[in-house]
Amino acid sequence: MVPAPVSSAQGSRIWVLPLTLGAVLVAVSFTAFLTFHVVAELFACVVGLVLFVVVTSTRRLTRNDFLLWLGCGYFWTALIDLVHTLAYKGMHVFPGDDANLPTQLWIAGRIVQAVTLATAPLFLSRPTTPVVAFAVPAVLAAGQGALIALGWYPDAYREGLGLTAFKIGAEYAIVAVLAAAALLLWRRREMLDATVLRLVLGSIAATAASELAFTLYVDVTAVANIAGHILKFFAFWLIFEAIVRTTLTEPFRVLARAASTYDAIPDPTLLVSRDGRIVQANRATADEFHTPVAHLVGQPLHALLHPMDPVGPNGCPDCSAIAAGLPVPQREIFHPLTGRTYLVTFTRVGPQRNDAPDDLTEGGTIVVLHDVTARRRAEDWVRTHAERLTMALDNGELGLWDWNVQTGSVYFSPTMETMLGYEPGSWECHVDAWERLVHPDDRAMVQAVLGDHLEGRTPLYECEHRVRRVDGTWAWILDKGKVVDRDEAGRALRAVGTHTDITVRKQQQQALAEKSRRLEESNRDLEQFAYVASHDLQEPLRMVSGYLSLVRRRYGERLDDQGREFVNLAVEGSTRMARLISDLLEYSRISTRGQEFEAVPAGEAGAAAVENLGPALAEADAEVTVAAPLPTVRADRAQLERVFQNLVGNAIKYRAADRPVRITVGTEPAPPGFAAFAVSDTGIGIAAADFDRIFQIFTRLHGRTEYEGTGIGLAVVKRIVERHGGSITLRSEPGVGSTFVFTLPLAEPAASPEQPAADRVPA
Ligand code: ADP
Repeated sequence: MVPAPVSSAQGSRIWVLPLTLGAVLVAVSFTAFLTFHVVAELFACVVGLVLFVVVTSTRRLTRNDFLLWLGCGYFWTALIDLVHTLAYKGMHVFPGDDANLPTQLWIAGRIVQAVTLATAPLFLSRPTTPVVAFAVPAVLAAGQGALIALGWYPDAYREGLGLTAFKIGAEYAIVAVLAAAALLLWRRREMLDATVLRLVLGSIAATAASELAFTLYVDVTAVANIAGHILKFFAFWLIFEAIVRTTLTEPFRVLARAASTYDAIPDPTLLVSRDGRIVQANRATADEFHTPVAHLVGQPLHALLHPMDPVGPNGCPDCSAIAAGLPVPQREIFHPLTGRTYLVTFTRVGPQRNDAPDDLTEGGTIVVLHDVTARRRAEDWVRTHAERLTMALDNGELGLWDWNVQTGSVYFSPTMETMLGYEPGSWECHVDAWERLVHPDDRAMVQAVLGDHLEGRTPLYECEHRVRRVDGTWAWILDKGKVVDRDEAGRALRAVGTHTDITVRKQQQQALAEKSRRLEESNRDLEQFAYVASHDLQEPLRMVSGYLSLVRRRYGERLDDQGREFVNLAVEGSTRMARLISDLLEYSRISTRGQEFEAVPAGEAGAAAVENLGPALAEADAEVTVAAPLPTVRADRAQLERVFQNLVGNAIKYRAADRPVRITVGTEPAPPGFAAFAVSDTGIGIAAADFDRIFQIFTRLHGRTEYEGTGIGLAVVKRIVERHGGSITLRSEPGVGSTFVFTLPLAEPAASPEQPAADRVPA
C-alpha cells in the first residue's frame, strides 16, 4: 500500500497540541483530580460531537459511510460520557454520590464506542443510511441508559470493594471487541488511506490500553485511572485526526488533483450552473476563446457559444433545456469567431436538488466542446467527391466495377446493369457473371488484354468488346480499368474500372469505314480510268497530229490562207491536247506509279529541279536561292523533284514584267516530325479568294494567251504532298509575290530547327 503523502513536518505538527494538552492534564490530575477528569472527559465529548457535526455536514461530498458510522457512534458515546462526567464522584449533579453510576455509564459508553469501532469497517464496502447509522448506537446507548436508570444494570463499583467482576470482565470483553475491530480494519486496509488507517488503529490501541488501565484501579484517583483517562484523551484525539483528515483535508487534495486533471482535458470543458452561467472553465476553453478563465466565469454560456445570436438565451433550445433541468442532446455548432465546428455535449452533473439551491454544481451541466472541423471537412470532401463521381458516372453513362481480383467478387454499379437493360442488382457479384455475358468471340482477346495488365505488362487495361444485353442483342462496350492495389509480390489485389456503351459510335465507325472503303475503291477505279484513258488517247492523238503535220507539209501549198490557218490551229490544238494528256497521265500516276519512300536530302531534289529549269531561268533572267542544307525527308525522290520543279516553274512563269525575278527555296517552322519548305517569288501574286481554287485540277486564273498552262501543275503538287502525309498552304499578295509552304515528314525526326544559312545558286 502506498503511504499517504503526509510530510514529517505536518506529522509532527499534529502532535504538538494533544501532547501539550496531555501534559497540562497530567499536571492538573495530581493537584485537582476532579477538574482533570472533567476537562479530559469533556474533551472527549466535544470531539465526539464535533465528529458528528463534521461527518454529517460533509457526507454529501464525501459519501463515506465508514465515517458516517463512526461519527454517529461517537456522538452517542460522547453523550453517555457527558452524563458520566456529570455523575462523577464529587460532581454532585445526581443524587447519591457513589462511584457506581459513573462507572456503569463508563462501561455503557465504552460498549457503544467498541461496537461502533468493530462494526464501522463493514461500511467501507457496504452502504448505510444516516438514519440507520444514527439509530443503532442510539438504541445501544438508550437501552443501557434505561437499564442503569431502572437499576437493572450490573454494579460496576462497590464502595470499599472497588471494581466489580462485571466491570473488569466488561473491560476485558471491550478490549477483545476492540482487538476484533482492529483486525477487521486491518483486513480491509486496502480500502483506507494509510494515514487514516494508522490513526484509527492508533485510536483503537489507545482505547484498549485505557481500558486495561481501568481494570487495575481501586480508588478512582489512582494512577491507573489517570493514565486511562489520558489514554482515552489520546484515543479520541486520534479518531478526530482520522476523520477530520479524511473529510476536510483530503477533499482539498482531491479538489486540487481534479483541478489539474480538468486543465489537462484538451477539449474546452465548462461547468454551467442551472441559470446558464459558466461556473468553471478549463485552460483549453480559455485558450480556444482567447479569454482568461476569470473572465469566462460568470458569463452566460449562450454568449460564449452563440456570440452573434440576437435572440438570446431564452430562445435557445440548449439554454432553455439547461434551465429547465431537462436532458440536452449533443449538437454541432459552427462558432463564427473561432471559425471552428464543435460537437457540443451536455452532461448533467447530478440530480436537481431543491434543498441546495445555492450549490452551483448540483443540477449543473458539464459542457464539452469537441472540435470536429477537420472531421467535418473530411466528411464534406468525401461526400462532395462521391456526389461528383456519381454525377460523372451518371452523366457520362459510365458503369463502374470494383473487382477483388483474389476472391473474384465484384461491385457492379447500377448503371453497369441498366445500360444493358438488366435490373439493377440482378447480376451475381462475381467476375464470372460478367464473363458469361462477354461475346464468345471476344473472350480470348479480353482475357489476353486483361492478363497483360494484371501481370503489370501494360499501365492500363483497355479494350472494346461485345456484351450480351438482356434482350439477347450485343452491345459494344469500351472497358477500361486499372489495378489499384498489389501485394508485395506484385500480384493484383484490386482493380477498378468503367464500362461505356459505345455501340452507336461503333456502328458509325463501321459505316464510315465502309464508306471510305467504297470511296477508295471508286477513286482507284477513276485513277485507273484516267490513266487508261490518257494512255490510250495518246496513240490516236499522235496519229491525228502526225497526219495533220503531213497535210500541212504536202498540201500546204495547195490550200488557201484560211485552209492553212485551220490546219495550223488543228496542229496547235493537238499539241496542247498531247500536253494535257501527258499532264493528266502524270497526275493519275502519282499514287499508282509512285516509288517507295526513302531518305531524300531536300537540297538535292531542289538543285535537280533548278537544273532542269535552267533554260527557263536564264530566259527570265531569274535569281534562285536555295537555302543549304535543306533537311532530309522521307519521300519519293522523283516526286519531290516534281514538287520543286512545278513551284519554281510557276514562279518563273507568273513573274511580274516590271520587277527582277527573285525566287527563294527555304524552310519554315514545322510541326514535330515534319519539315516545312517555302518557295517564294516576286511574281504577280494571287488574290486570297483564289487560294483554294488554284489547287483544283484544270483550274487556271489566266487565259492561254496570257500564260501557257493546263491547270494541273498545282494539283499534282498537292497530291504528291498529301501522298507523303504533308499539307500545302499559300501566302500571297497580288503585285508583291507569293509563298507556297508545304510540309513533308522528316527522315529522322531530329531536333535541328535552326534556319540554315542561305546559299546562292547561280541562274
Ligand atoms: P498552270 O500553271 O498550268 O496554269 P497550275 O496548277 O500550275 O496551272 O497553276 C494554277 C493557277 O495558279 C495558274 O493558272 C496561276 O493563275 C496561278 N499560279 C500558280 N502559281 C503562281 C505563282 N507563282 N504566281 C501567281 N500565280 C500563280
